[in-house]
Amino acid sequence: MKLKGVRGAPDLLPQETARWQRVETATRFLLQRYGYAEIRTPVFERTELFVRGIGEGTDIVEKEMYTFIDQGEVNLTLRPEGTAPVARAYLEHQMAAQFPLVKLYYLGPMFRRERPQSGRYRQFHQIGVEAIGSDQPAVDAEVIDLLWALMVEEFRIPDLQLRLNSIGDAACRPTIRDRLRRYMTDRSSALCPDCQGRLTRNPLRIMDCKQPGCQHLVAEAPKPLESLCEACAAHFTEVRGLLDHLKIPYTIDERLVRGLEYYTKTAFEVINPRLGAQNALAGGGRYDGLIEVVGGPSTPAMGFAVGIERVIASLPSAEEEDVLRGIYVATLGREAQRAGMGLLQELRRRGMRGLMNLEARSLKSQMRQANKERVRYCLILGDEELGRGQATLRDMMKADQTSVELVHIVERLMGLEGV
Ligand code: AMP
Repeated sequence: MKLKGVRGAPDLLPQETARWQRVETATRFLLQRYGYAEIRTPVFERTELFVRGIGEGTDIVEKEMYTFIDQGEVNLTLRPEGTAPVARAYLEHQMAAQFPLVKLYYLGPMFRRERPQSGRYRQFHQIGVEAIGSDQPAVDAEVIDLLWALMVEEFRIPDLQLRLNSIGDAACRPTIRDRLRRYMTDRSSALCPDCQGRLTRNPLRIMDCKQPGCQHLVAEAPKPLESLCEACAAHFTEVRGLLDHLKIPYTIDERLVRGLEYYTKTAFEVINPRLGAQNALAGGGRYDGLIEVVGGPSTPAMGFAVGIERVIASLPSAEEEDVLRGIYVATLGREAQRAGMGLLQELRRRGMRGLMNLEARSLKSQMRQANKERVRYCLILGDEELGRGQATLRDMMKADQTSVELVHIVERLMGLEGV
């Protein structure tokens, strides 16, 4: 029987990984410019970390975690998100003592038992950014500026929307929640079964339910912005002012809430309207409550996570990236193959992309392979030519060829345009 991979946990094949690597490289380069350092936490943690850090009333904790008992002892879970693990590591390694504002990023796989569909997987990948230790609105603005730069300047995704909201803090969230709960309880028969459950556990989540009946109710429901306390309202005004100053375009979305319970104040999402139902590329916000929940002192923090699969699906088409690069050494005869291998070894050591055929195929078949590999040049070495100290160099882009001397060939090739 032929074994298959697990649904919702796709393979990334060689024709796709080049794009992934470009996204990852651009990310690392940008984050380094903003002063962020990478953190790599394990893919599993104690289950309790996620139960406490994400919150019991959430979809993730209630039905989406991959949890197992390790050798009958410790209850472990494959990480469904990266913020709680980063908060745990921040505390465990006393990072607060090193810098007043700790700026970390991560990149890697996350696991949620969701119903697989286009843009939604059970293993997916996130880029996450966390700035821990400051309650200043300037941190919110810089983190959002960073996210926007990543999406628009680095990934060059067109037509994105940045949606912004504030969902209050420990002082005003109870009022926000109670007003909404009261409003929805009076109309609960019109809510979908999921939202009827949310009414007691996590009423704010009704705000972003996609069911038409619930959306209809939400349109008229009391919104968080109407009940912000003075401190949250002032914070939000300051964040908005800074975003205007930095020329980051955003729209206020009063229905925007975050699925995870530890979020406070600023909440935001980046949407690609060109994608289908799963059109959120990134989401984030302040989580001033989290560090305390996982056992530390009260510590304000701010961050976001980007879904890499959805970024890849949003990138401009692949053709424009199709540049010819490097060299293919085509050889005829045993001596020529040995000479070709030596030459390639030298070129690769100097940083050039170099390929050849190792199976003594015909020249025609080697040229076909060279075309497939999208190389810019082809160097044809025949035993006879080799004896005369010569070879043929073909420019695959201009489709012309010349005879070249083999003395100083490495320097000559390294100096070519487009290698
Ligand atoms: P969250 O951690 O739920 O705030 O999600 C942040 C981002 O991760 C989302 O905006 C998506 O781009 C991505 N994401 C979340 N869940 C999935 C999933 N199951 N499959 C693919 N991407 C996801």
